[in-house]
Formats: sequence, C-alpha cells, structure tokens
Amino acid sequence: MNQISSYAETFRLYKGISEQYNDQVILDSVKQLVPDNVLKLTADEQSLEPLLHWFKNNFMKWMPKELQCPRCNRPMRVQLADDNSGTFRKTEIHMCDVCSSTQIFPRYDKILRIAETRIGRCSEWSILFGAIVNSLLIQTRIVHDYLDHCWNESLINKKWVHIDSTLDYPISFDHPYYYEQNWGKKYEYVLAFSANSIEDVTTHYTQQWLMVQKRRGKKDKVEEFKEIYYRA
Ligand SMILES: [Zn+2]
Repeated sequence: MNQISSYAETFRLYKGISEQYNDQVILDSVKQLVPDNVLKLTADEQSLEPLLHWFKNNFMKWMPKELQCPRCNRPMRVQLADDNSGTFRKTEIHMCDVCSSTQIFPRYDKILRIAETRIGRCSEWSILFGAIVNSLLIQTRIVHDYLDHCWNESLINKKWVHIDSTLDYPISFDHPYYYEQNWGKKYEYVLAFSANSIEDVTTHYTQQWLMVQKRRGKKDKVEEFKEIYYRA
C-alpha cells in the first residue's frame, strides 16, 4: 500500500459518498429507515448508542469475505468483476467449484442501494451509517485507514469523534486507539473525506506517531493526496 495510485483509486468513491452526504433527498430517505423509538431514544439520551445498537443488531447484515457453499459446506471461490454499472467498485462473484452454485455481491457506491440491500462489510456499513447520522443533523464523514478498514467520524461538541458501527458499544464510540492496540494496526495514512477536502487524521488514531512517520519516509504524501482529491 505504498503507491499513490492505490490511495487515489478510492478518492472518487469517497468524494462521491461525501457529496451524497450533502443531498437532502438521500438524507431524508435514510432517516426514514430508523424506527421511531430508536430516534426518540437517541434524542432523549443525547447519545448515539441506541442508533449504533439498532444498526448493528437489527438492521445490517455482515458479508463475510469468504462464503461457504450452502449445499456442499465448502469454501467458495471469489472472483472480482466489472459489472459495467458505472460504479467505482468491483462486483464479487462467489462460486462453488463442486456444485457451481453462485452468489453475487455487488459493492454499491450509492447510499440508497446499500440501504436497500442492508448487507456489506465495513465500507457499506460506514457509508450508510454516516448518511444516517448526517440525517440527524450531526455532521459525519468517512475515514479510511488503507489497511482494509473504514469507519466514521462525527462532529460532536466541535470535535471529530471516532464512530465505528461495525463494533459493539462502547468500543464503537470514541475508541480511536482500539485498532492499533487490539488489531496491531501499523498506520501510514488514515484519511478523512469531505465533499471538498481530504484530511490526514492519522494522529487521532495512533499513539506511535514516530513509527508512523518512519513508515512514511522522507516525503510525506498528504499534499499530493489533496491535489489528487481536488481533481477527482
Ligand atoms: Zn457447492
């Protein structure tokens, strides 16, 4: 993950998502997904806990990276395909070599498509959860660590706070060092995306900043990222 291009190829996706976060029609429609009692609890308690709980336990499904064939109980093979739908993401085709049963997992970059399918991994979860929190008038953005995970940050009391809808509360809220401490993450760049800007937020997530700087080497890429993002 050292090449600029491996970062840049995600920029259009996240820019597109950030633009959708400013689209009131999309926000109105994702807000309607949330049951009234969850909205009321969230407002009454002034906490995102009820929303996080509902989203993880009652609303979304997790898509494993590898599926078992439902007939043969063997691991299925995964292929990536462009489905010509004009999305920035490749469709996953899971296939069983024994009985040829197939499952297709399109990786949508449209919030409302994810809201319909209600399934995915961290990117689908954070894309949709971010939209729902934005719909509650709490400004929220997407964060990607470029080590295969992404989550959200919400602007609460004028500070960007870590929020990860894929984790259990309270780890899902304001536990920024969790990944480094528990998953052994070795960050180089953790980036946060808004419609008009990209921000290097790595220092929010590391207690090993010197090591991060060492990994980055002499030439920090942040300015280059900003330029690419601006043009994306
Ligand atoms: Zn099979």
